[in-house]
Amino acid sequence: MNLKSSEHKSGHLVLPGERLGVIEEFIPDSGTYVQDGVIYSKIVGRALMDLLSKRVSVYPLISGVNVPKVTSTVVGQVGNAQSDNVLVRILKIGPKKLSGVFTGVLHISDVEERYVTSMNDVCKPGDIIRAKVISDKNQVYHLSTNDKGLGVMYAFCSQCSSLLEPKRHEMQCPKCGNVERRKMALDYGKEEI
Ligand SMILES: [Zn+2]
Repeated sequence: MNLKSSEHKSGHLVLPGERLGVIEEFIPDSGTYVQDGVIYSKIVGRALMDLLSKRVSVYPLISGVNVPKVTSTVVGQVGNAQSDNVLVRILKIGPKKLSGVFTGVLHISDVEERYVTSMNDVCKPGDIIRAKVISDKNQVYHLSTNDKGLGVMYAFCSQCSSLLEPKRHEMQCPKCGNVERRKMALDYGKEEI
């Protein structure tokens, strides 16, 4: 993938007809059109390339456009999980909902201060988590849950998908009794999504 060609454009102002990339590297999303395999902006706006979802979109320059920034607190749903990181589909920035697709990555070293051995004890696919954006290097939103207020807000049983209840340092499923672990936010289960 040629990162250089798109790197300078993400977050920048683009004009109608301005080249954003090619369909081999990106999936064209809102505010774009494709001609001969090349993705162009349809409008005047801010271009956004999400390298994890591989989507490129252009947001109109109106007030209230809400995109993740370094230091933003975001709420998202855990997607693909690996032993040392998970992908998070960002749903909200602060109290505001998003219209675009943004994906963040939470690495095991950014979960909390102490050493964490497995992402399996942190969160699982389907969980709703609150995290902070600590970097947007190369258009990848790197997340951290290293704060009492950050972490899993809602966790679901991996056996039966019921909402897990906090029990001391673990979580228990009220339906099937399954016990699991999470890195819980202080206000687990309280904030409306
Ligand atoms: Zn269960």
